[in-house]
Amino acid sequence: PADSVSLGRGTWRLLHSIAAYYPDSPSDEVKKDMNSFITLFSKFYPCRPCAEDFREWLKENPPNVSSKSLLSKWFCVAHNVVNRKLGKSEFNCDLLDQRWHDGWKD
Ligand code: FAD
Repeated sequence: PADSVSLGRGTWRLLHSIAAYYPDSPSDEVKKDMNSFITLFSKFYPCRPCAEDFREWLKENPPNVSSKSLLSKWFCVAHNVVNRKLGKSEFNCDLLDQRWHDGWKD
């Protein structure tokens, strides 16, 4: 439905942007907070089937919260899992900074 499309687009924007501005060397407390954020996000994301599938995937693929680049890559992979499920093409994770940190060069 139209709602889950705009909700999804806005949510991925938020998640990838959060990762793009995460510290390169987070403290233990920041890492713990990011783990909590992702766990809580997966409980409250207001598209139930989306959230259920995401929670299942999370069990086998715990977030890599150890640095900005690893967290960004982890969200990229998570998003690609959904892209694949929806029959979309996969995003090249080497382009993450251009898309979500610096902005496209155009
Ligand atoms: P989106 O997929 O929303 O992507 C927005 C932009 O992000 C793209 O234009 C591209 O520039 C960039 N991008 C694309 N892939 C990546 C990537 N891998 N890494 C970084 N940037 C990228 N919808 C469903 O119908 N069923 C579901 O089960 C479902 N599960 C979801 C689970 C979660 C956790 C979230 C956040 C969303 C989910 N959605 C689901 C919504 C779906 O992923 C899309 O957001 C929605 O279909 C709109 O797609 P879009 O083509 O506008 O681009």
